[in-house]
Amino acid sequence: MKTNLDLFPEEIRPYLIPKPEGELFYRCLGCSAEFSIEKLLYVCPHCNQVLLLHDRNAHNLTKIPGTLWQKIFDYRKILKIPALKGIYRYHEFIGSCLPLSSILYLGEGHTPVIEASIHLQEKVGLKFFYKNDGQNPSASFKDRGMASALSSIKYLIDQNLVSDVIAVCASTGDTSAAAALYASYLGPLIKSAVLLPHGKVTSQQLSQPLGSGAKVFEIPGVFDDCMKIVEHLSSQYPVVLLNSKNPWRILGQESYSYEIAQDFDWDMTDKVVIVPIGNAGNISAVMNGFLKFHKAGIIESLPKIIGVQSQHADPVYQYYLEPDKTKRKFIPVDTRPSVAQAAMIGNPVSMPRVIEITDKYDKTSKHQNVFFVQVTEQSIMDWQLTANKNGHITCTQGGECLAGLVKALDQGIVSQNETAILDATAHAIKFSDFQDLYFKKRIPDAYHIQPDPKYINQPQLVSSDDPNLVPSQENRLSKKDFQDFVQEISGKIAKNLHL
Ligand SMILES: *Cc1c(COP(=O)(O)O)cnc(C)c1O
Ligand SMILES: [Zn+2]
Repeated sequence: MKTNLDLFPEEIRPYLIPKPEGELFYRCLGCSAEFSIEKLLYVCPHCNQVLLLHDRNAHNLTKIPGTLWQKIFDYRKILKIPALKGIYRYHEFIGSCLPLSSILYLGEGHTPVIEASIHLQEKVGLKFFYKNDGQNPSASFKDRGMASALSSIKYLIDQNLVSDVIAVCASTGDTSAAAALYASYLGPLIKSAVLLPHGKVTSQQLSQPLGSGAKVFEIPGVFDDCMKIVEHLSSQYPVVLLNSKNPWRILGQESYSYEIAQDFDWDMTDKVVIVPIGNAGNISAVMNGFLKFHKAGIIESLPKIIGVQSQHADPVYQYYLEPDKTKRKFIPVDTRPSVAQAAMIGNPVSMPRVIEITDKYDKTSKHQNVFFVQVTEQSIMDWQLTANKNGHITCTQGGECLAGLVKALDQGIVSQNETAILDATAHAIKFSDFQDLYFKKRIPDAYHIQPDPKYINQPQLVSSDDPNLVPSQENRLSKKDFQDFVQEISGKIAKNLHL
């Protein structure tokens, strides 16, 4: 498809279709050593620390005025080039070395931002929105990072730098669903294997990698145990690691912030962005994204960031409880069962990233602008159900964000003059197992959740009092009997609905 550049303003034309002009490299967060992206690398070979991707040509980004960038991104919305329809609309900030031919696009990104229902906003006490990242192809935000990671692998394959790729990941459910989906799209070029904590992912999440044809291994224990096995595998064998330890995942997930900036017309004043924290890849990416747009002059102020953790898996919250920076010490926690199961992680691999980026974010903001709050399991579940009863489609982690907003408002971290944007990180149906347990009052004690009758909703079977008047697939009723049946059932429903 040829793009007719004449249709676009003259100042936009040279920039409309991005060229692979970036020069990306890995930098270690521990010792600052730099490495080529042509090697598969997930930790620093010298000090074993995690890495982040940087662009040697990033200084060129500031040569274009922020207001022109805004126009470029707005006009790119009109393009019909698949590679630029998803997260790579922000190509120069996301994977600037990738030619469009290496980019995978399965419909990820540009998820809707939905204003919370008026009833819900009144209940909570301020204006807020949900960004529905559950409306990504595998129904969670992980698709953003996976589009980036798999595009980077396709790029290496296209250049004959790697072949016969075996991709592995450990997962609380959504990473494996996304990894298996994107890998399967590349067909025979890549095989994927996923490790899941046995019994600790929902049935919907388990069905996803199985359906995509990945090898699925269930491991006893919790996510943190699976992660150790995957780390061992990736240090011993030539496999591609698709966990958020992979810096390409972080890079792709930065698109979430770019979209928020664009959705709110590049004005981040009095905005508060709330995300749940598990392995802490997402909050790292979200902060990094805003920092990059701020540096390029695309946004003038940085939004407030609030990371939320459940009482049952709160190592990041615990770390920041100590106000004196020099005295903070990271201690992994043993997780307890959590309905925010996708975030049930006691030893987040991106903790060094969080520490470094939070510091930079606060410094750039010139005041504390990143906050961490802790919420109860009960509040996560009750707020998720409340949100969904008011027209939303949020998962339990999105419920965690809302519980976090309420807590932050209560603690004075957020005021009523601000506008919050909450991450509904996955679709509600992925976590319907927990809704089901709640509605059936069968949530195991270890979750510490008492189902509140005012949220419970159960189907009611409405049948005929006369056993001979019940239709089934095998026994069709006579015309007369069926009419009686319809009348009786309608009567019962009408009575129930007080019609
Ligand atoms: C992975 C995940 C999280 C946690 O994100 P991290 O990057 O691990 O902090 C939250 N919610 C959902 C639905 C997820 O899949
Ligand atoms: Zn290092």
